[in-house]
Amino acid sequence: MSENLCYTEAYTRIVEARVVAVDTDARTVVLDRTVFYPGGGGQPADRGWLRAADGRVWDIASAKKAGDDIAHVVDGDVDLPAPGDGLSADIDWERRYALMRTHTALHALCGVVWRDYGAQVTGGNMEPGGGRMDFEFESMTGELVGAIETAVNRELAAQRDIRVQILPRDEAFAIPDLIRTKINLLPAGITEIRTIEIVGLDLQADGGTHVANTREVGSIRVTGYESKGRINKRIRIELV
Ligand SMILES: [Zn+2]
Repeated sequence: MSENLCYTEAYTRIVEARVVAVDTDARTVVLDRTVFYPGGGGQPADRGWLRAADGRVWDIASAKKAGDDIAHVVDGDVDLPAPGDGLSADIDWERRYALMRTHTALHALCGVVWRDYGAQVTGGNMEPGGGRMDFEFESMTGELVGAIETAVNRELAAQRDIRVQILPRDEAFAIPDLIRTKINLLPAGITEIRTIEIVGLDLQADGGTHVANTREVGSIRVTGYESKGRINKRIRIELV
């Protein structure tokens, strides 16, 4: 199993690694360790580069889960590295950091909507700098959107730390706050659950990468809301 640093060290941008496996049909490379995020939970996969000491560079268009490993998808029709080669794995940090700020902003939105209105999140998606969340939020109206924006920005400005933990399944299931994010839908075979806590505001089971403190997010703007039916509502935000 490869060492996947994105889950424990979100700020590590580059790591020295060795090629473990290459798939010439799928155009993918698996390393013994990596900093690439494979996508999931609404956060897109990282892009970046693999570099050899002799100057060869491979553009990485995406990354994806391959069992417990992370496969790097090589862009273009170039010769792939070989198993055993030493490489550095280097992510597009500007894009990744924007995704970290965006992801944390979306969790702050979830935290506020749950705390102030008791509405559960049902899904979400993001790009660097903006995203959307869907809620079971029957009472949402256009007038509420401004109040939600103000409340989220107040929480971000409160300089709340973000804490990442990996908990045994039973311990995670005992946390009432986690149940609302539909943790009970996780497959039975999963023995550990990773949690992201915006201390004092929000706690979710989550696989994504986040900033260390809400001050790094800055502030957000609500750019739209839509009714996806009587109960389901969608809120769009962007980083200011
Ligand atoms: Zn998330």
